[in-house]
Amino acid sequence: MRVKRTPDTYEKIQALGGMASDDILSRPGDPPSNRRGPYSVPRNNPAPGVYRSALPNGKYVNLMRVMFTDFCKMDCAFCPNSHWVPRRRFAFKVDELANAFMEMYRRHTVAGLFLSSGVAGTGSKTTEKMIKVVDLIRNKHGFKGYVHVKVMPGTEEQYVEAAYQLGTRLSVNLEAPNPALMSKLSAMKEQRRDILAPMSWIDRLTRSTTNGAVGQATQLVVGAADETDWDIFERIDQLYGQWNLKRVYYAAFRPVRHTPLEEHPPTPPQRECRLYQVDWLKRIYRYSNDELKRAFADSGHLPLDADPKTSIAASNLDMFPIDVNAASREELIRAPGVGPTSAQRILAARRLHSIDTWRDLQAMGVVRKRAWPFLALPGYRPPRAKQLKLDLFRAEAERPRMSNPPAPKSAPCGEERSCAGCPMYGAPGHPGSTTLTPSAA
Ligand code: SF4
Repeated sequence: MRVKRTPDTYEKIQALGGMASDDILSRPGDPPSNRRGPYSVPRNNPAPGVYRSALPNGKYVNLMRVMFTDFCKMDCAFCPNSHWVPRRRFAFKVDELANAFMEMYRRHTVAGLFLSSGVAGTGSKTTEKMIKVVDLIRNKHGFKGYVHVKVMPGTEEQYVEAAYQLGTRLSVNLEAPNPALMSKLSAMKEQRRDILAPMSWIDRLTRSTTNGAVGQATQLVVGAADETDWDIFERIDQLYGQWNLKRVYYAAFRPVRHTPLEEHPPTPPQRECRLYQVDWLKRIYRYSNDELKRAFADSGHLPLDADPKTSIAASNLDMFPIDVNAASREELIRAPGVGPTSAQRILAARRLHSIDTWRDLQAMGVVRKRAWPFLALPGYRPPRAKQLKLDLFRAEAERPRMSNPPAPKSAPCGEERSCAGCPMYGAPGHPGSTTLTPSAA
């Protein structure tokens, strides 16, 4: 005889902590998993439901990363929590999760909480339960630290406001760059109503009041809807430019058994990495859309075999080499191998003495093997002939470049009609926009 046993809290943490690990938003300050070089993050989670997360200052902090429940009534074609997948599901009770978190916090196992969930019932109902958990740990237990609350799709405005009052950071998963592509992934989620509207409310709240969550983030699944990298870029241009998002995260699609996309090929991790690189060039290096456009191939994708910064530099060779002792910060950070920190160090050192050797530059963090064709020092100027002989430049010269990105057939949201009341009103390419779209710029 088979005896059904109610799972205890530890089993729930194991199961729901494991399911939450698919959510890359739970890695604040750090690009994605299983990548090489600067894009790698530690995988050695100290305990079930605990994630070691990198902060922007390079330090690490343990977060309790868990789903409130992995029941989900939605039909997202890429998701292991969707109703397509037949498996056992778990759910916390409100006080059970709050007590478990506080227990781990008091034992110094975790310093913060990342709380996500599947949509059980409605988006508002699920978000309300998550708010109750955060309310308990804030107002009953007095916890003042980091809490990231995932707002469920379809949540009503009043619950978004309540989450804003309690959370440190909020996020709504965008999943696809526009509503037309979203409809390929789910027949139940209407992107404009269920996702873009809550995001616009969070944006309004973060601008209008100071005592609430400090920002919002979102996540896109890359490759599931057969979108191009340019589709994604158009969306992040709007998110960073108009909605002031802190971060956009990218998750390469991996097929999940039993879902409609189980036969769909997985997205190469390198594509995710290229999107992060373009994201950094836009957000941190402040490249213009005209410059970034040079990184895209005719197909609307970023080439997987060359990093975008080098690709842009190679397509603009007349600008190089730049004089390390005279160039501005903007010129310096456009040379591959030179980042914002090393550029800052160069500028500071230059005030005291001239920079004469590669050894000096390397001590400031410049990566010589990437930077040598682009920088000039006293007594050293990379020979043009040598530059042009580099494989990189040969490949660049032969690569068909996206001179004119495909003009959207309709507004990026997929709608032909007027958008009064739409949260995308005024976004690039939409009615009401005062910004040139990248293709028009
Ligand atoms: S709503 Fe979220 S948890 Fe539910 S199926 Fe879609 S992506 Fe998965």
